[in-house]
Amino acid sequence: MKKQFIFYIDMDGVLNLFESDKNARVNMWTPGYFRTIPVRPGISNLLVRINAIAYVVILSKVINRIGVTQEKSFWTNDNISPDAYSDIIYVPYDRSKADYLYPGYPCMLVDDKESNLIECKEKGCHGLFLSDIKTTDKFPVAENLDDIWNFFKNLIDQYDSIHD
Ligand SMILES: [Mg+2]
Repeated sequence: MKKQFIFYIDMDGVLNLFESDKNARVNMWTPGYFRTIPVRPGISNLLVRINAIAYVVILSKVINRIGVTQEKSFWTNDNISPDAYSDIIYVPYDRSKADYLYPGYPCMLVDDKESNLIECKEKGCHGLFLSDIKTTDKFPVAENLDDIWNFFKNLIDQYDSIHD
């Protein structure tokens, strides 16, 4: 049986290499842009492993442009295994990701935006920072995919020891 634990993961800059385009914040307003962003190598396989144990949920904000949600859905179909996640939640850009977490589940969030991690931490969600260009001194930082796995595994083991 799967563990009742939710592993939330951001899309832009985490599942994909949003920061590999220096002009991404301009280009993202061009229709179709979100289908073109390269995937982070290895991330799909890592998520397949995690989703076999707990629930991976993609948690992604969408800018206010028609088509973005569809582009992101198509991108996910093209780049991420269907076994890698259990759900996708799209959050309007001016809303807090913390308001979209499923209530009552222990969880963690991997994100490249400190403010998202702070808001979710207030709801009890463990934050892990992953970014190709930024850093933080408020959260543990994942330097690579192994760090994500280890952070997840440690948390899962802690919750196991509480509930066993
Ligand atoms: Mg992001």
